[in-house]
Amino acid sequence: MLNIVIFGAPGSGKGTNSALIVEAFKFDHISTGDVLRTEIKNGTELGKIAQAYIDHGNLIPDELMINILASKYDTLKDSKGVIFDGFPRTIAQAEALKKMLEERGEKISTMINLEVDESLLMDRLLRRATLEGRADDNEVTIKKRFEVYHSQTAPLIEWFKGEGLYKGIAYTEDMGIEGMANKIIEYIKTIV
Ligand code: ATP
Ligand code: MG
Repeated sequence: MLNIVIFGAPGSGKGTNSALIVEAFKFDHISTGDVLRTEIKNGTELGKIAQAYIDHGNLIPDELMINILASKYDTLKDSKGVIFDGFPRTIAQAEALKKMLEERGEKISTMINLEVDESLLMDRLLRRATLEGRADDNEVTIKKRFEVYHSQTAPLIEWFKGEGLYKGIAYTEDMGIEGMANKIIEYIKTIV
């Protein structure tokens, strides 16, 4: 089974590209952001805990996130491939993912970093706010999410490089959504 991490700053298009990869390869998709938003919508205990963190642009505590991820992964046993979208976001989560997969006779296949110029990201997220109405897509929370990304998540780039699993794919404005997705799909074809 392929275990592919889709990585990138807030607004880099992890969700959009994950959906297109899933369609192209018939893979499964775990989006930790979507899992948390569903819990919030359903008013569960977990949703209540998560909301306070998300609304302030903070990360949900690692231990909680790791448990959610493992139980979701275990529902996908017969999958051809799993896309991890939004996880790992800290070094501790990356170490936990590596261990969790090892315990199941699996490993991380690759990490794909969606390299998007930061100047494009704020505009994208503010546009998404008007389209999707996500409470955390407001200017104050977005700035906080970038800070959190730089301090806690970006160090994972070196971690994945150290594991020999890093693949960066750079976005340029002339590519459009489809051009970016096609580049990613071409790369995945080389590892399936
Ligand atoms: P994109 O726009 O590229 O899809 P995003 O960063 O805007 O990504 P999500 O991945 O949906 O958004 O995450 C939204 C929020 O959910 C995060 O700001 C964080 O509070 C919480 N969250 C999601 N995944 C994790 C995780 N792995 N660890 C901790 N918190 C998480
Ligand atoms: Mg997302």
